[in-house]
Amino acid sequence: MKNAINKLGNFINELGKIVFLNRENSLIFSQFEVNLTGLNENKMNKKLENFINEIPKAELHLHIEGTFEPELMFDIASRNHIELKYKSVGELKQAYNFNNLQEFLDLYYEGANVLIHEQDFYDLTFAYLEKIHKQNVVHTEIFFDPQTHTDRGRAFETVIKGIKRALEDGEKQFGITYEIIMCFLRHLNEDEAFKTLEQALPYKDWIIGVGLDSSEVGNPPSKFEKVFEKARNEGFLTVAHAGEEGSSDYIWEALNLLKVSRIDHGNRCLDDEKLVDKLVDLKIPLTMCPLSNLSLKVINDLKKHPAKELLDKNVIVTINSDDPAYFGGYLRKNYFALAEALDLSAADISVLASNSLEYSFLDSAKKLQHLDKISDLLKKFNN
Ligand SMILES: [Zn+2]
Repeated sequence: MKNAINKLGNFINELGKIVFLNRENSLIFSQFEVNLTGLNENKMNKKLENFINEIPKAELHLHIEGTFEPELMFDIASRNHIELKYKSVGELKQAYNFNNLQEFLDLYYEGANVLIHEQDFYDLTFAYLEKIHKQNVVHTEIFFDPQTHTDRGRAFETVIKGIKRALEDGEKQFGITYEIIMCFLRHLNEDEAFKTLEQALPYKDWIIGVGLDSSEVGNPPSKFEKVFEKARNEGFLTVAHAGEEGSSDYIWEALNLLKVSRIDHGNRCLDDEKLVDKLVDLKIPLTMCPLSNLSLKVINDLKKHPAKELLDKNVIVTINSDDPAYFGGYLRKNYFALAEALDLSAADISVLASNSLEYSFLDSAKKLQHLDKISDLLKKFNN
């Protein structure tokens, strides 16, 4: 039966193209076209695409260093007189073909090497804001990795001041609200993380929380239990990458030892039913990143992405772009790709976008404003 409907749909689609060409000449044809929409897959997709584009979205899992586009990387390298290993933008882009998290990280750290001055961090951050503004991302909570920069002699203040100034300008120009989350590199030791926390204290008012990123396997959350405790005592919120490549035990540790407000990624929670129940009970959101998962081979097909299965189990899922310059797409593209692969409805999309705002660290009044807009747009979509 489904096949027959599809065939009919395809036939009418073809007819629809002819009708479309003649639309201005014939009211009858035009009416006919309206009746096609239910069966016309392309038009449905376009409508859903517009919906995804229009609804307000928040981004909760984004590494600012991972927004470094090759063109900007070459510009900044050239003005700082740094030679990149790659001869051209094209050659660099070809290197963006990763087999795992570590291969990506090696390239990521090399790119970050060209960031020297406050203005470099400003330009990097502002370029990201210009992009997301066009995609109706209304709020962003960005990660930055101070150790990637302080370990090569850059001052903590150079990094944070450049990022913060760009975020302030972005809010003024585009109305995008923001928070900053500082991540510890988990492949380094806890003493190094303590030093970084110390450097962050003068900028406490600028940084809402601390996180944990970089090479996951072999670097469990328990390795950072003490520094997270100190961070919480200093008033920082906590989040952590867990269960991307690491096992579901890492997610338990992030919850129990690091007392996180959100789990970044969390794909592997599905290995443990009790853990899924716990995430639901505690209302702990997962900040999932579909194109990143595909690019780093956490999954080999977007159709196998666990986002929908988790939504169906009442887990709070949000969609994010992680390191968009490296993984082939910013926030909107992650929504598009996932919607297509998992056949998501507008209602599913609105849940994902609402989650991103509701579980952001944005103030309640602003959250409500955005959530109202999403529900209005969903009503319009369904009419
Ligand atoms: Zn990440």
